[in-house]
Amino acid sequence: MPIKENLEQVKQNIARAAQKAGKRPEDIVLVMATKTVDPERIREAILAGGQIIGENKVQEALKKYEVLKNERVRWHFIGHLQTNKVKDVLKFAYMIHSVDRLSLVEKLDQRLQHEGRSLDILIQVNTSYEESKYGIAPEEAVSLVRQAAKYETLNILGLMTIGLFTRDEIKIRKCFKLLKEISDKIVKEDIHRVRMKYLSMGMSNDYQIAIEEGGNMVRVGTAIFGARNTPDAYYWPSEKTDEERQG
Ligand SMILES: *Cc1c(COP(=O)(O)O)cnc(C)c1O
Repeated sequence: MPIKENLEQVKQNIARAAQKAGKRPEDIVLVMATKTVDPERIREAILAGGQIIGENKVQEALKKYEVLKNERVRWHFIGHLQTNKVKDVLKFAYMIHSVDRLSLVEKLDQRLQHEGRSLDILIQVNTSYEESKYGIAPEEAVSLVRQAAKYETLNILGLMTIGLFTRDEIKIRKCFKLLKEISDKIVKEDIHRVRMKYLSMGMSNDYQIAIEEGGNMVRVGTAIFGARNTPDAYYWPSEKTDEERQG
């Protein structure tokens, strides 16, 4: 299916799920996950109305950014971020979804101070408790938010998670419910400068579920661009087989 039609289908599904959750379609932010997608196809998606790109690898993103930097689109970083890539990620990223440790917070703050600016971030939480997934442990998430909030170059705007890869909808929902709970807890603590504006959860297989559970930022790749040739193990730390991933 052409990208335009796929995108329209995804938007319709988002609208339906939003309605179910008592929200308006425009309350849900769609991030197009563009890992492995070449600039021409990304441009097609932008022309079809896509407004945000989410990239996983700094080097890959920089190459695409060179080609697409004049397009009217915002770049989010959604992959695991190594501290030695902080300077490069800041060349294109408008928001980082994957802040999951204090050492990264410190490095981002140093660089942002140097550049004299601030950055919108989300804290990534490992709600599936899978060893192969990055993200702070759910039990430590509130504490990391409290600590990160002290760095004035960083605007903490919410949380991000990757749901469990399984066909078992109950288990997927459990991940998303947990992220919502943590977010509610943080709201209750009323931490200075912290806003829980975004819950970034939901991918091609589970974005409708994520929206029903309170998510308002979904990261969708395959449903827009089709299946990837490169295994996700290249982007994620896991060595899992497809079968394990399917659950
Ligand atoms: C690849 C990726 C997505 C999108 O995955 P699809 O299943 O292709 O929709 C979302 N979030 C992250 C962090 C990703 O790496």
